[in-house]
Amino acid sequence: MALLQISEPGQSPAPHQHKLAVGIDLGTTNSLVATVRSGMATVLQDAHGHALLPSVVRYLPDGQVVVGHEAQAQQSQDPTNTIVSVKRFMGRALEDISDRAHIPYKFVNRAQVAIETRAGVKNPIEISAEILRVLKERAEKALGSELVGAVITVPAYFDDAQRQATKDAAKLAGLHVLRLLNEPTAAAVAYGLDNAAEGTYAIYDLGGGTFDISILRLTKGVFEVLSTSGDAALGGDDFDHRIYCWVLDQIRQNSKSFIPLNEADTRLLLTKARQAKEWLTDNYEAQVVCRLSTGQLVDVTLDVTQFNELTQTLVNKTLTPTRKALRDAGLEVADIKGVVLVGGATRMPHVRHAVADYFQQEPLTNLDPDKVVALGAAIQANALVGNKGDEDLLLLDVTPLSLGIETMGGLTEKIIPRNSTLPVARAQEFTTYKDGQTAMSFHVVQGERELVADNRSLARFDLRGIPPMAAGAARIRITFQVDADGLLSVSAREQTSGVEAHVMVKPSYGLNEAEIAHMLSSSYNAATTDKQARALAEAQVDANALIGAIQAALTTDGHLLNDAEKQQINAKITALQASIHAASSDAIRTDTDALNHATEAFAARRMDASVKRALAGKNLDSIEL
Ligand code: ADP
Ligand code: MG
Repeated sequence: MALLQISEPGQSPAPHQHKLAVGIDLGTTNSLVATVRSGMATVLQDAHGHALLPSVVRYLPDGQVVVGHEAQAQQSQDPTNTIVSVKRFMGRALEDISDRAHIPYKFVNRAQVAIETRAGVKNPIEISAEILRVLKERAEKALGSELVGAVITVPAYFDDAQRQATKDAAKLAGLHVLRLLNEPTAAAVAYGLDNAAEGTYAIYDLGGGTFDISILRLTKGVFEVLSTSGDAALGGDDFDHRIYCWVLDQIRQNSKSFIPLNEADTRLLLTKARQAKEWLTDNYEAQVVCRLSTGQLVDVTLDVTQFNELTQTLVNKTLTPTRKALRDAGLEVADIKGVVLVGGATRMPHVRHAVADYFQQEPLTNLDPDKVVALGAAIQANALVGNKGDEDLLLLDVTPLSLGIETMGGLTEKIIPRNSTLPVARAQEFTTYKDGQTAMSFHVVQGERELVADNRSLARFDLRGIPPMAAGAARIRITFQVDADGLLSVSAREQTSGVEAHVMVKPSYGLNEAEIAHMLSSSYNAATTDKQARALAEAQVDANALIGAIQAALTTDGHLLNDAEKQQINAKITALQASIHAASSDAIRTDTDALNHATEAFAARRMDASVKRALAGKNLDSIEL
């Protein structure tokens, strides 16, 4: 009989045991799990030898849940209970889903959108957890033991809510998240270690439904994301759709009576279109053959030249965000040392040509483009659980949009500029606006515009218990911190009393890449009007502050003025109050100056009076000058 062994507290029972950690690419279209075995990152396969798990979840009538190829195959039979591309709904509200009218699901409008299925109302976290559960089981079966943890990848533009939702899904699936990793960074890890190269790289990721471009800098094993851009509604699916439309045209041309397609036929043709597209990557011609539910036979042949013509505009469309990412990073094409291709759709030769043409070099393709993210995540997971003895791999990601705080006049004060590398902490001091103010309201915002109203509101919180002081005397330090997972926390501390307030920012719903792109482009377009808006708001704040101070002085020291003088000052106040509402900062400034000028004598008399008060009862020797 073997004796049971008990190890010392704090000591590992088997000090040389390899800790099992995996990397998971939780993709919109396909998901994968990979691990490092004998020093090599490898993607784990299912019992049928499939590495890719389609990100499709179907709720069956008998209560079972099927995930992957089987669910994908049944999609057209049971569209409302078969959820595809759930990643698009992670951490989002119903109004964020712009194309919801074209999606067959019964959406339920909650703080975070959910879908009504025959198994009940399911939220995106629960649906994603089903995918993660399958990958976890696959890994445990392949590795023969329980997992210590997983690194899960997310798009670089995922906001707090989307990242949090991903973490929650992992928790629900019983996975310990070592950390979330940006997808382009994971791809760079995979290549960076394999090639041990240094320099600035572009990561071009064309997946099933999304396009992401990231500019990374690699130096001595340190990866830094310089900028990210993309198009949330552009991917391999759009190429399928072009073929699908072409096939419909062919049917219309060949048959006199064309009956509109039903849902199942549409899906069938789209599947055939995808197969044709993938076939054309390695072949000159693809045949689309199928029988529609109407009995009509479809049999058409598409060659590579036609396919390229049909889809060249889609390929070209990826170059706009690509140019923008380079511009944001302050770089030119010549600065890019290498280009990494990610995503199954980058297998298409004309995509590769366009990328090579734009960057004036052949992209790196020695790793499989749809596995590279999972491989990088596996390498990172392995390093995080301490299996990797050599130098630590430090990963730096960026904030996609600036983070800041609302100040007087509805203006945004940026605290952490966009594209700051993570983790990042920045602090700035603010002060009170009114005498005796004991509380302050903070409004945390995200975006590039000058006016808060044009940016996105993330959170609000109050700091109370500030000791009453003159306006401008209190020192309130606001600290913004974004951790390695991209989660933001904000704290406010009054420096003399030490009172503090804190908020973890978890917005109830997120931004997508298109919205980020829109917020950025509108900030470029609006640069001039924003400058004017800021000047106006600042002039208004200053004018109101001056009026407030003078009115307070009139109350306490009005007796220092005769009636005519009072009238003159009041007339200037009325004039300034009127111009505050007029939309010109110049007019406000002119009237502010006039009011300042009109009160100079009053100010001098108040000064004399207060000196006299201070001197009363003291002899000259005790006065320090
Ligand atoms: P995601 O990141 O969205 O999960 P993937 O990286 O797995 O997606 O890419 C999926 C897309 O890649 C699909 O549109 C699929 O048709 C396309 N794809 C996969 N293999 C090929 C191929 N051989 N040729 C062309 N496209 C392909
Ligand atoms: Mg992907």
